[in-house]
Amino acid sequence: MTAPLLGQMMDVPLTVSSLIAHAARHHGGTQIVSRRIEGDVHRYTYRDCEKRSKQLAQALIALGVAPGERIGTLAWNGYRHLEAYFGVPGFGAVCHTINPRLFPEQIAYIINHAQDQYVLFDITFAPLVDKLAPQCPDVRGWIALTDEAHLPDMRTPVLSYETLIEAEDGEYEWPLLDERSASNLCYTSGTTGNPKGALYAHRSSVLHAYGASLPDAMGLSSRDAILPVVPMFHVNAWGVPYAAPLNGAKLVLPGKDLDGKSLYELMEAEGVTCSAGVPTVWLGLLAYMREADVRFTTFKRTVIGGSACPPAMLRAFEDEYGVQVIHAWGMTEMSPLGTLATLNWEQSQRPLEAQRALLEKQGRVVFGVDMKIVGSEGEELPWDGVAFGDLHVRGPWVIDRYFRQENGSPLVDGWFPTGDVATIDPDGFMQITDRSKDVIKSGGEWISSIDLENIAVAHPAVAEAACIACAHPRWTERPLIVAVLKPGATLTREALLAFYEGKVAKWWLPDDVVFVKELPHTATGKLQKLKLRERFRDHVLPTALAIENCPLGEPGTDR
Ligand code: ADP
Repeated sequence: MTAPLLGQMMDVPLTVSSLIAHAARHHGGTQIVSRRIEGDVHRYTYRDCEKRSKQLAQALIALGVAPGERIGTLAWNGYRHLEAYFGVPGFGAVCHTINPRLFPEQIAYIINHAQDQYVLFDITFAPLVDKLAPQCPDVRGWIALTDEAHLPDMRTPVLSYETLIEAEDGEYEWPLLDERSASNLCYTSGTTGNPKGALYAHRSSVLHAYGASLPDAMGLSSRDAILPVVPMFHVNAWGVPYAAPLNGAKLVLPGKDLDGKSLYELMEAEGVTCSAGVPTVWLGLLAYMREADVRFTTFKRTVIGGSACPPAMLRAFEDEYGVQVIHAWGMTEMSPLGTLATLNWEQSQRPLEAQRALLEKQGRVVFGVDMKIVGSEGEELPWDGVAFGDLHVRGPWVIDRYFRQENGSPLVDGWFPTGDVATIDPDGFMQITDRSKDVIKSGGEWISSIDLENIAVAHPAVAEAACIACAHPRWTERPLIVAVLKPGATLTREALLAFYEGKVAKWWLPDDVVFVKELPHTATGKLQKLKLRERFRDHVLPTALAIENCPLGEPGTDR
């Protein structure tokens, strides 16, 4: 064997510090605007951001933090949190963003499992930190993201972030790290079992930032002002804090107020052109816009993902407000971007209805991710848009194993099983029908809870709906709709059931509807179906009561 002929290009590692170094040098004057916890709006530039990120790196080194050690964050979207995104991995430590909406016991578990050395926190989380500190004895210090004057009154001894970094001069050169070394750590929400850590590398983070920026993904450029509504503690705000400096895009960070009015006002004031967030938060924005009868002047497109974007929301954004919706799918284990729904030229020539049908799906993969669907024996299923199976993925920003779970790879034949159930159509558009644990198994056939939810929320009186499996003596499980009505709206169970007629196969028709005041959500704003299933475990479906008089048959025949 002769040695391979190696390319003769520079061996420059892909590091996250290179993203802020690039933005500071080539887009130095571009703004980063943050609505602060202190109540005011703060603005500075990429140049300032890099300098303060370097000061943070110096301060952490002075505190004795070594490369590879983890630094936790409990913070909203803001400039100091952004500095941690660069200052912490910039010298080789790992930026571990923690979701403050989890239960304190879960947060303590995560901090201890990650072995965080210091935790940076926004002052709104002072009471939480007081609860956590006794449960996290190995944390060497808690750093409040504020100045001395705003330090909250706490039981736990804390350091002031501003005081720490003011002691440093920012004269620091980012080291050339091994690009495979760890940069960020995110834990899954742990809706089942304990949360698990996905440890990203510098290389995977930079590649992901490139992928996220592509025209068929977020389509970012230096002409954009992007406002990530998705929190920086939810899978690194889907990579926006890294993709924005890569492109030199203006970054607008909304802080803690994510209600419709606060978001709308900030978007208008800062000329925001694009955004990204989960469907729940957009419900609030759309409701505010309708009520206040206001319109966007600069906002052009938004990525919606994290849970299925109901077609009704897509239509509202596009038809009422002229905002393009890019439906996207991904997960913590994928950094998170996997697929996005945008049309190629040929697809954009099809009749409007056919275009819409594609755009409502979760979309095609971006380069950097490959996917397949497999059946119960692990066999690959056809891309016909009908067959559905377990969705598997692989790629340079997909995890290989979970953090500190060295034995027991989650991979199957080199692919990561996502836990989602999906179809893939001949266009390569993937559609999630369910999370495997949410799918409704009726008489051996599967019913998509997402499809049934989408129909419910298309009803003008329905604000939000969840579809869960309810026990049934003959079919094992049947769909139950749990719905929340819009303020002031009225609707009967019968009228909502009638709304389904003709929209789905007969045997998919929900068996019952229950109206509730509100639905439970997870810490990342998704429907908490596990809780709902528990709550309605003993719910008796009218169809189950009527079973005595019901003729026996297979699904699809007598339903
Ligand atoms: P968790 O919800 O546990 O915090 P993630 O944020 O990583 O974890 O969520 C990933 C999951 O969210 C996916 O596996 C999928 O079930 C769901 N999901 C994400 N985007 C979409 C989407 N556009 N449509 C349907 N489900 C989605």
